Amino acid sequence: MGYNQGKNNPMYGKIPWNKGKKLNLTEEHKEKLRKHLEDWRKNHPSPWLGRKHTPEEIEKIRKGNLGKKCPYAIKNLGKYIKGLKGKENPNWRGGTTKKIIKWWGKHRQEKEIWRKKVLERDGYKCKLCGKTKRLEAHHIIPVSETTLTAFLEMNGITLCRECHKKTESYGGRIKGIRNKKEGIGKTKWLIRTIPQEFQVFRDVGNYQLANKDLIVIFVSEMENPDYEFLVTLHEFIESYLLKRRGIDLKEIDKWENKFEQEKKEGKRPKKAVAGEQKDCPYKKEHAFATKIEKMVAKYLKVNWGQYDKYLDYLLESYVQKPSNSR
Ligand SMILES: [Zn+2]
Ligand SMILES: [Zn+2]
Repeated sequence: MGYNQGKNNPMYGKIPWNKGKKLNLTEEHKEKLRKHLEDWRKNHPSPWLGRKHTPEEIEKIRKGNLGKKCPYAIKNLGKYIKGLKGKENPNWRGGTTKKIIKWWGKHRQEKEIWRKKVLERDGYKCKLCGKTKRLEAHHIIPVSETTLTAFLEMNGITLCRECHKKTESYGGRIKGIRNKKEGIGKTKWLIRTIPQEFQVFRDVGNYQLANKDLIVIFVSEMENPDYEFLVTLHEFIESYLLKRRGIDLKEIDKWENKFEQEKKEGKRPKKAVAGEQKDCPYKKEHAFATKIEKMVAKYLKVNWGQYDKYLDYLLESYVQKPSNSR
C-alpha cells in the first residue's frame, strides 16, 4: 500500500468526494483520467511516498503542491467533467438537450398516453428482467435522434429503472453501440431521398459507409414512388452484399472516379453503367440487385424500359442544368 492508513491519510475524517454520487464514465474516460493522474503523479511526487522526508519537509512539499492545479486529480473530477465540452463529456446529449426539453414540455399529454399504452401492452413487466417495480417506457429510437417516432407504439418498450439505465440512450445520453456482444443492430441503414442535384456521385442512388456498420443511402427524388422504391431496393441489396463480402467501399469510390474520368476522356462509352463493366469491383452484387429489382418491378407493373429512360433523363437533366442556367 502506497498510501498511509488512518490519521496519516490525507483523506482521514473527510467525506469522500464521490460519496453518494454516481458517475457514468465510459471506459474511454476512465482510461483518460487514469493516464492524466499517472502523469500528474510523475510530475508531482507524493510527499507521503518513500518516508524519507522530515515532517517539515513534508509540510513544505504539501504547501508547494497546494497551489498547483491538477484538473484531473480525483477530488476535482466533478469539476473536470463539468468542464468537458460536447462529445468529451460523458453526459453529452448530442447538443440538443434544451431543444428536447422544450419539445417534451409541449407534448406532456401525448407522452403520458404513449407511456401508459406501452406499459399496458407489456403487461407492466420489464421486457428484459421481468421486474414489475419502477417501470419506465424506453424509446428504442431516441427522441434526440428524431421526434417523429416519439409516440409510435412500436418504438416503446417497458423497462425497469435498472435495465433502462443500461440502454445506450438513457436520459438522452449517447453512449455509442452497446450491444456488441449480443450482435444487435450490427448493420444500420440511413436512407434518404434527396434532390438529384445533391448527389455527389453521378447516379440516381449512392451509398457510403459512415462507419463500420452504418450504410448511408441517398436516392434521388422521383415523380414515381415505385421508381424511388426500386432504386432504394437496388442500393439496399448491393450495399449490404458488398459490406458482407468485406469490400472496402473506399476502393469502390476510387474505381468509380476513375471510371467517370475515363468516360470523359472517351475511353469508355458515354452511356456505360458502372455496375455493368467487366472490371467493376461490384459487378456481381450489382447484377444480383438488378435481378431482384426486375422481379419487384414486374410485380409493381412498372415498365422496365420506361423506368430506365426516366433514370437516364434524371441524370441528363442534372448534368445539363448548370450550363442551361448560365
Ligand atoms: Zn429490468
Ligand atoms: Zn448497382
